[in-house]
Amino acid sequence: MSVFQHVEFEQHEQVVFFHDASSGLKAIVAIHDTQLGPALGGCRMWPYESESQAITDVLRLSKGMTYKSALANLKLGGGKSVIIGHPRQDKSQALLEAMGRCLESLGGRYIAAEDSGTGVADLKVMSKHTSYVAGIHDRPGLVGGRNNGDPSPATAYGVFVGLQAAVQARFGHHSLQGLKVAIQGIGNVGYRLAQHLHAAGAQLYVSDIYPDAVAKAQAELGATVVSSDEIASLDVDVFAPCAMGAVLNDASIQAMQAKVVAGAANNQLERECHDRQLHEKGILYAPDFAINAGGIIDIYYERVGYDPLLVKSHVEGISNTLSMIFERSQVESRPTGAIALELAKEKIRNSRA
Ligand code: NAD
Repeated sequence: MSVFQHVEFEQHEQVVFFHDASSGLKAIVAIHDTQLGPALGGCRMWPYESESQAITDVLRLSKGMTYKSALANLKLGGGKSVIIGHPRQDKSQALLEAMGRCLESLGGRYIAAEDSGTGVADLKVMSKHTSYVAGIHDRPGLVGGRNNGDPSPATAYGVFVGLQAAVQARFGHHSLQGLKVAIQGIGNVGYRLAQHLHAAGAQLYVSDIYPDAVAKAQAELGATVVSSDEIASLDVDVFAPCAMGAVLNDASIQAMQAKVVAGAANNQLERECHDRQLHEKGILYAPDFAINAGGIIDIYYERVGYDPLLVKSHVEGISNTLSMIFERSQVESRPTGAIALELAKEKIRNSRA
């Protein structure tokens, strides 16, 4: 398959394929745009069924990072990496060290952080061979305590305040008391989002492919466990996708009963047209790269000097950004995703000028 002709290529600066025979590492790094700074984005480990699936994913994720950082006013470019393999079966010290050497060879054009299938411990192993990893330094937590570098708490907090802004815009009230929220994927971000929502009085419905993840949410947060097939079509107020991408598609939108989509997952729209479909159905979609910027904001400050109060207030700014997008969407009667993308591109142009 051609990478240059790929429908998701969209002027990527660089796409690199890495292979390490002794550890079995197969990885792809995509650098979309470095106009605002070095490309920073997560390193995902996932058992892709085909190489072409992995390429599509990394290109889509990488572009999303460019727009996410621009919209959050960060001096960072967009990039992403994927390791082809099962995070619970194929991960090894040798494989992660090999990935570290690959990152080093890019000389800092791309900096890797945690994503689905990788965590702080994995990035620390990579860091034995490179300084081009982020999200690994012990520091104060956003809401007290300490944090080992994991950006997930900041992402979850950003999604929480963004979800509140969406509820305000769609239902006209700020309170989450009694609000029914369905969370797909109860991992690093999804579980923390569930904790915030539970504390705010929301009623939770959760699904995950791993039974241990949902069992914890059921036991500790009183969440109702539902199957992965049902979660997107439940009769709830808010659908919060916190697993993989492309969950907003023809079938799921047609079956969706929620009036708001606000979650952490990257690339939630399967195709651009799904942005409009949601709009036409009266479902308020919080664009993924706007609402899930908490983690990249957190990591940015790890690099430039970490002040938890400053980080918290920057993350809370997600709420204002979304409110502005929602308002413009209503006034101009246009889908939210298109408006968010326009704003991000405008910021890149302005900053270049
Ligand atoms: P994670 O791997 O910790 O959690 C994802 C969870 O989703 C896992 O528990 C997994 O089992 C589950 N899952 C996978 N497929 C599923 C399915 N079909 N149905 C239900 N559950 C499913 O990852 P995470 O760090 O929590 O990230 C979640 C999403 O948010 C990803 O799309 C990631 O790219 C995005 N994101 C994460 C961060 C961050 O700071 N971690 C930042 C921005 C965006």
